[in-house]
Amino acid sequence: MSEAVRAAVDDVSVHIRDRFIKLNLTNWEAATNGGQGALDAAAQARGEWMRFWADPDAYQRFKAWDENGAAGDDAHLARMLRMLHLGFAEGQRDPSTIDEITALSKSLDDAYTNFRSEVNGARLTANAIDQILASETDSERRRAAWEASKQIGPRVADPIRRLAELRNDAAHRMGYENFHRMSLTLNELDPDWLYGMLDDLAAKIDEPYRQAKAAMDAQLGERFGVPAADLMPWHYADPFFQRAPMIGEFDYDAPFAGRDLVDLAVRTYDDLGMDVRDILERSDLYEREGKDQHAFCMHVDREGDVRTLCNLEPVLRWMETLLHELGHGVYDKYIPQRLPWLLRTVPHILSTEAMAMLMGAQTLDPEWHVRYLGASSGQAEIIAEASAARFRLEELIFARWVMVVVNFERLLYEDPARDLDTAWWDLVQKYQLLTKPDGREKMPDWATKYHIALVPAYYQNYLLGRMMSLQWDRWLAEHAGGIAGRREAGDFFRERVFELGATLHWNDALEYATGEKLNPDYFVWKFAG
Ligand SMILES: [Zn+2]
Repeated sequence: MSEAVRAAVDDVSVHIRDRFIKLNLTNWEAATNGGQGALDAAAQARGEWMRFWADPDAYQRFKAWDENGAAGDDAHLARMLRMLHLGFAEGQRDPSTIDEITALSKSLDDAYTNFRSEVNGARLTANAIDQILASETDSERRRAAWEASKQIGPRVADPIRRLAELRNDAAHRMGYENFHRMSLTLNELDPDWLYGMLDDLAAKIDEPYRQAKAAMDAQLGERFGVPAADLMPWHYADPFFQRAPMIGEFDYDAPFAGRDLVDLAVRTYDDLGMDVRDILERSDLYEREGKDQHAFCMHVDREGDVRTLCNLEPVLRWMETLLHELGHGVYDKYIPQRLPWLLRTVPHILSTEAMAMLMGAQTLDPEWHVRYLGASSGQAEIIAEASAARFRLEELIFARWVMVVVNFERLLYEDPARDLDTAWWDLVQKYQLLTKPDGREKMPDWATKYHIALVPAYYQNYLLGRMMSLQWDRWLAEHAGGIAGRREAGDFFRERVFELGATLHWNDALEYATGEKLNPDYFVWKFAG
């Protein structure tokens, strides 16, 4: 029995590998040379990838083998059967709705991509809106920009509701209550655990959040010349209040002026016993016409071709981003090649995000500033204080925002026909403590967030990734004395994290590394203690 199973797994691996490499290479080409031909090739590879995972026979076969324990006591084979079972389950598409889902997604994607906020006749990009919210001091002009950023809502709300219904139809056919529950379950997150954990966390950080926001509001009130109690959603740093506004005196970019970020990254990773030079050589690091403006890392073939795309400038944000993307990169690079191809990946997206976030946060570590930027101990103290306050404020604000998004998605998929406009503002008031402005009653402000429409059931990974990184961070503080410049910290990752590849469920892998399953209290202790 298990010989036939093994042969089937080997066979399907070859097919997945071919499509995976093609998908990555065409995506890389599209991101670095954005011409129409490259975009078409990437779309075609995407289609082939989706059609492959939609195969109903493969789904039934791997589901049965997984559920019947066909791998016997071969743990690697069992894990591969589970991954194939879940992968094919997620890929199942009903031919009658696949066209409608694809067409709706495409038109929504175009709507978000081409949307420009109109303020007094001028058409503004999302970056221009962020720029206004970062620097404008006149409340009326801020209000106009914020309201303009919500103009897309009424145009996309109905298609998103329809998309949610179609996703739910697919979930019902697979035997799930709704799409949100299905999607979380197939990504190895128990929906009831997630909902309960977020409720619990909300209660634990409620008072610290209230206090941190009140202190921030006092400063913002002064900046904008309004009483703190009268601050409105447009007084914050972005249209959703998902990031912390820049407050205080400290100039976070100053330490990076004139620095060679690549050299700093190489030295940071060298000291952990991780060589990133080959990754950087394959990478596309600097801004250029026709190139993707964001950043990402990919392991093209799971055979060592790891690369990253960045648009480096000597400022904090890009130092953090480079260390972040290389965090993904070293995770991929140091997964052992002796593992079967299917297991030569991360256990979960949240695990690799955790590594990336941990390394990005090195830029907030005073030890890192002393060691790599040559900061004096006096400077390091100032940096430590400012950075710790900023880190805390950012994470508290972001956690509350994740609670809005995840709980909204839960409500959306429980009943796409409900009064979502009211539900959204109820959550924003409850978790973010923002004031609902007049005139938003029948406005689908929920629909202005890209992820709600097109990256569904994903947002929790950002918060879970942060939690995992804090759990590693605590373990390293106790066992290696920290991270910056410590070979033992690098050994921990190579021997107890990367070494496993995808051989275990993400939470079992975390327990193997730290002796404990995911414990949200590390987040509470760090930011709300
Ligand atoms: Zn990342």
